[in-house]
Amino acid sequence: MKKLISILLVFAMLAMGSALAEGERVTAKGVGQGIDGDVVVQVEADATTIYSVEVLEQNETEGIGTVAVEKLPGAIVAANSIAVDAIAGATVTSNAIKDAIRQALTDSGIDPAPFEVAAEAAAPAEKTAETLDCDVVIVGAGGAGLTAAVRATQAGAKVLVLEKMPFVGGNSLKASGGMNCADTKFQAALDITDSGVPEFIEDTMNGGHGINDLALVTTMAENSAEAVEWLESIGAPLPKVAATGGTVHKYLHSPEDGSPVGAYLVAKLSEEAERNGIEILLNTTATEIIMADGVAVGVKASDAEHDYTINARAVVLASGGFGANFELMCSFNPSLANAVTTNHPGATGDGILMAEAVGAATVDMEQIQLHPTVYQATSMLVSEKMRSLGAILVNQDGVRFTNDLATRDAVSNAELQQPGGYAWIIFDQNLVDNNKSAAQYIEQGMAVTGATYEELAKAMDVDAEAFVKTMETWNQAVADGEDKEFGRNNGMDADLSTAPFYAIQIAPGIHHTMGGVKIDTATRVIDTAGKVIPALYAAGEVTGGVHGGNRIGGNAVCDFVVFGRIAGANAADCAAAGALQPAA
Ligand code: ADP
Repeated sequence: MKKLISILLVFAMLAMGSALAEGERVTAKGVGQGIDGDVVVQVEADATTIYSVEVLEQNETEGIGTVAVEKLPGAIVAANSIAVDAIAGATVTSNAIKDAIRQALTDSGIDPAPFEVAAEAAAPAEKTAETLDCDVVIVGAGGAGLTAAVRATQAGAKVLVLEKMPFVGGNSLKASGGMNCADTKFQAALDITDSGVPEFIEDTMNGGHGINDLALVTTMAENSAEAVEWLESIGAPLPKVAATGGTVHKYLHSPEDGSPVGAYLVAKLSEEAERNGIEILLNTTATEIIMADGVAVGVKASDAEHDYTINARAVVLASGGFGANFELMCSFNPSLANAVTTNHPGATGDGILMAEAVGAATVDMEQIQLHPTVYQATSMLVSEKMRSLGAILVNQDGVRFTNDLATRDAVSNAELQQPGGYAWIIFDQNLVDNNKSAAQYIEQGMAVTGATYEELAKAMDVDAEAFVKTMETWNQAVADGEDKEFGRNNGMDADLSTAPFYAIQIAPGIHHTMGGVKIDTATRVIDTAGKVIPALYAAGEVTGGVHGGNRIGGNAVCDFVVFGRIAGANAADCAAAGALQPAA
């Protein structure tokens, strides 16, 4: 009987496999694993041709994975091949779409192998030389570039933005915590009176080990309240306020609904840029600053089809840091060679190199920040805000080992001293209910869980007795408002007693490059002789000096909004004055 069933099964399978008549078209669904769950794809194909690919379900990162969802299906159909390049910066989603197609083909009896061969590369087309004119050209469409673009347009300039990736947002898109601002109306509404400009300056200088440029830090702090109100004026209020790592003061501002701040601001700034008719050229890499008589008068750039000469009356560098350029980082700190990085692939320091080529000075290039809570398998950052909301760190022995909310460099160093050089971040259901990022980490399979502390200890493979004691001691410390063990004095508003409980294994990863182009408080780029390079401005992670030896959480966003606004306004003024420009 058993044998008969087996034979029937084999026949059934053979019948299914051969069910496809020659030239027969099928429509089938397949599933691939994306960054945040299943990506379901529908394919229409026969044995030799893929006719259509449609993504039916996905929950990929807005602005990154969704670019692959939008662009890859068309590229696959056009090439009649799955072996097309993944969309830069969205490899996981691209691979999920490809896997789903393979599965759909296989399940409907089509061999995917012929589609794994790359389409014959067309001979590279001659690039067309093109000249564009604008008042202000901005290199980079991350937080600083988008802010500068909107602000310069408000000031009356005709702006052109160049972005080398297929999407806007850069590292800013990944910022998850908030924006530090002092003396804001949002703090006043919450009766926060002890976290003003002087405290903000002092914490930033202390966090940066005092090597920060005090004038830049003061400018950032003094302009932060106006910056957060400006964001509100373009439809991006940040009314929630909490403490950040490395300080007891409450000036970390974030969106009302607990959304990660970076994606929220990039979306709002992009919408405002669109409303203002700002042109953003994607997939377009700036390669050189054009100088005439010592004045910046434009940039050279290129995309797949064009070599651009972009004439402008002012140039703003907003091209971000170099946390994805291992060669450059290792030239300052060789020990980083094997570290993971949280940076997006476009963080290659192009703006710094372009500025240096026209004589700009750089500062603090060797200051490269490790963030202590990076999930190593995917280089995904676990936000500092998790600890601000009450999460703690324990090691593989099940015990705490540091003030979990000390500065990033201190916590990273403490972690590296633990067994295996890693730790676990522990949180509970109450925290998940108050933070969208926490829920996402769980959905993405980063966390282990347990209904009790003992169960969680088992899932982490740590000593249950030691772990239970750690949790009970911590909850008591929260109740007492005093951490006798490590002197933590913030992020203690809620204990960790609401089941179920969660843990994510984390270790330090490269996060922020504090060094970069030297600027003054008007964001004018300074040359190696200490003089202003006329008509050349820079803002955001491409610059150095604001964060000194260690950036505190929430200051990258403040940096890009405050200095992005200043750069946009001053570049527009410079363009309008036109006084320094040579005759066209
Ligand atoms: P910031 O926070 O300073 O805005 P981001 O990393 O968010 O920094 O944004 C910088 C942006 O600049 C990124 O989107 C990056 O892809 C882009 N970029 C970097 N180099 C170039 C270049 N050579 N040409 C155009 N865009 C660039």
